[in-house]
Amino acid sequence: RVDTAPKKDKVGKKESILIGKTQNESILTQLRRALEKEEFEVYFQPYFGIEDNKFGIEALIRWNHPNSGLLPPAAFIEVAEETGFILDMEQWVLKKSLDEVSKLHQNGWKHLTLSVNISARQFGNDDFVEAVADLLQVYSFPASHLVLEVTERFIIERDNMEVLSKLRDIGVKISIDDFGTAYSSLHYLKDLPVDELKIDRSFIANMEKDINNQKIVEMIILLSRQLNVTTVAEGVETNNQLKILTDMRCDRVQGFLFSKPMPLREITRKYPEMRGLLESTANIT
Ligand code: C2E
Ligand code: MG
Ligand code: MG
Ligand code: MG
Repeated sequence: RVDTAPKKDKVGKKESILIGKTQNESILTQLRRALEKEEFEVYFQPYFGIEDNKFGIEALIRWNHPNSGLLPPAAFIEVAEETGFILDMEQWVLKKSLDEVSKLHQNGWKHLTLSVNISARQFGNDDFVEAVADLLQVYSFPASHLVLEVTERFIIERDNMEVLSKLRDIGVKISIDDFGTAYSSLHYLKDLPVDELKIDRSFIANMEKDINNQKIVEMIILLSRQLNVTTVAEGVETNNQLKILTDMRCDRVQGFLFSKPMPLREITRKYPEMRGLLESTANIT
């Protein structure tokens, strides 16, 4: 069931495939075991509407490793992608986060949206749309409150477009993650079934010291507005960045300024404080 074929761009480098494969396989064994032993956890990082009361959370996987402690995705996601393990892993993340967030919905947080990262691999999987539809039904979760984040690399593959359209047909929202880091072809935005753009953290981090970065961010926001696409700035760390983004009328913000990714219950506990921080800064303008 798990596809262990090397990535296309690695074909030809026979030696590295062999070495890589052995290492990957031992990590793959560990990953599979981790899934069985329920060592994975979903953390959540909030995002907020600046001009409206929008509140959502992004699911981010962690591996609670018995010896190494809590591992970030950087420690295992590449191997997960290369080995195809990511397919099972992501379905687990989707299920687990829908389970947790649907309970919150029932407890009065019914406007909360859930964003989940989906790798390009998942779209080669014919059953994906059906799997998403089934999970939404099982958890009675409104499709309109589920956002799937995909990357630009994925977006430009023509075949994937159909899957995106199908997902949108069932009412799910599509977001382009890390926007601006890969192809940045703005022209595709006009034809794509996309609802949201997440401006990559690197642009936000450099906004203050590099005026050109700031102009790029502003242009992305202006263009998105024209095309009816929501903008999210990721990696907002300072009050000043928040103020600049507010002036530019960026729709949503996410970053360590408000919260690091954490377990769901901590996020709801901290919500009033985070909202207060946003409002006091946004009103300074
Ligand atoms: P991403 O989807 O772009 O998620 C944002 C990452 O930036 C998260 O790292 C988050 O902790 C970090 N971040 C957020 N705000 C700030 C900030 O203000 N400053 C800084 N320095 N960092 C910030 P994390 O959780 O380590 O995840 C890294 C990447 O791993 C994610 O990037 C995503 O591409 C991938 N990932 C995580 N979970 C999943 C998953 O379930 N499926 C897939 N396919 N990928 C996942
Ligand atoms: Mg993301
Ligand atoms: Mg991102
Ligand atoms: Mg990113």
